[in-house]
Amino acid sequence: MNILFVASEAAPLIKVGGLADVVGALPSALSALGHDVRVMLPKYSVITADRAPEKRIVVETVVLWRGQQVPVKVIESTLLPTATTLYLLETPTLFEGDAIYYEHNGPEGIRLAEERYTFFSWAAAHCATLLNWPINVIHCHDWHTGLLPALLAVKKVRLPTMLTIHNMESQGRWRAEEVFSWLGLTGHEVPGLEFRDVDNNLNALQSGIRTATVVTTVSPQYAIEVLSPLYGAGLERDIQSRPDGMRGIVNGIDVAVFNPETDSRIPAQYSASTAVVGKLINKRALRKELGLPDSDGPLFGLVGRLTSQKGVDLVASVIGDIVNAGGQVVILGSGVPEVEELVVSATKAFPSACKTILRFDAALAQRIYAASDFFLMPSRFEPCGLGQMIAMRYGAIPIVRDTGGLHDTVRDTSLHPDGTGFVFSDPIAGALRTTIVAALRLYHEHDKLQAVRTRDMTEDFSWARSASDYSNLYTYARKSYIET
Ligand code: ADP
Repeated sequence: MNILFVASEAAPLIKVGGLADVVGALPSALSALGHDVRVMLPKYSVITADRAPEKRIVVETVVLWRGQQVPVKVIESTLLPTATTLYLLETPTLFEGDAIYYEHNGPEGIRLAEERYTFFSWAAAHCATLLNWPINVIHCHDWHTGLLPALLAVKKVRLPTMLTIHNMESQGRWRAEEVFSWLGLTGHEVPGLEFRDVDNNLNALQSGIRTATVVTTVSPQYAIEVLSPLYGAGLERDIQSRPDGMRGIVNGIDVAVFNPETDSRIPAQYSASTAVVGKLINKRALRKELGLPDSDGPLFGLVGRLTSQKGVDLVASVIGDIVNAGGQVVILGSGVPEVEELVVSATKAFPSACKTILRFDAALAQRIYAASDFFLMPSRFEPCGLGQMIAMRYGAIPIVRDTGGLHDTVRDTSLHPDGTGFVFSDPIAGALRTTIVAALRLYHEHDKLQAVRTRDMTEDFSWARSASDYSNLYTYARKSYIET
């Protein structure tokens, strides 16, 4: 099949979050199954020709926008290192600036993310039939391209669409009358443009949920959770209204990049059979690097955004318990200032056993995964989560809350003979504390510890698994589109 991904990010070219990892890696895993997958991105001004070589212009057209004919070009390029064909959609001014989602000052004043991605979806709908490449399925990602299925219908482009939701929290809401004035539409042209919230906002994610041929999210458990108000972020009724519901397919990780046997960013490479020695060398090196004393105790690592979603406040509450039991804690992350402050003050209370590093540092993250005995990820909600999978690949046993992708990727050692980590239910410090006590016990049972670690390091987290699920769903999307 010919499948066009239309998205706002693709790693390694332009990345803010996990969405970029999926759009960067899934196309090549699908190519291995025989599909031709191409990716369309806005040509942000930060995407310069040296980072994405421009091969040729495949479309040169105009799009009606704010009552004017706006020039649009589609430039064919290549997404490295996978060599996926990349279509960069270029237009004057709208994609300028450093930040990709936030309001920013362009030459014409403040631009909104909502305006930027409404235009991107509109122009992508316009160009879909001009690429000289017959598309079988259009795969949209998150709210940025949520309006695309409805806008394709406005343009009378008849194609099955898939919408994958990586995060329910961001939805792309904006004043409906303003959005329609940009588009030169009334909002009554096709189904999917009629939904409004109490403030008369159009909601791009809601439109996508209502109109895409197939809707997916990034884990089966999250697909169930979002049917309830607790996780559905106000869109649970829209998901419930779909006769075929929402499918969940777990993300993979790049097992070539995240490979402790070859990772040059860690001091000592190791495999499952050499993990005892390998991890000890990495642990000693990290302690030295961060000024922590050597010890026989376990090292607990956390790498992630410091936000309420990630449950780092729960971690702050149990740091004393870990330290009193002879453990050490290393936290790398950045995020909401109040949460950062909470974590910093909790670790500062035990300066000889704990360290918080407030920055984004991909190499240090690898050194932490490689050095840690346990990895803390007690998220309140987690659409999929990559941290726990990377941690397992490096033999850091995950301690996670029973939610979303954490539920689907970690098996609790107390419930499963082939357990891979520790899973607790209630998002309260007491529940995490009890789980940490169990983890500390395991640390001192060397054979059992090594058995769990070996299972973690040999678990299949590759994209190949998920790619075949997506492939089946594209077939389903085409079939159900023809039937309707
Ligand atoms: P989310 O997408 O919700 O932020 P995930 O667990 O899906 O969480 O993905 C986070 C990814 O970003 C992981 O690969 C993690 O290692 C990485 N990461 C998060 N914070 C940092 C940081 N401060 N420095 C380096 N890597 C980070």
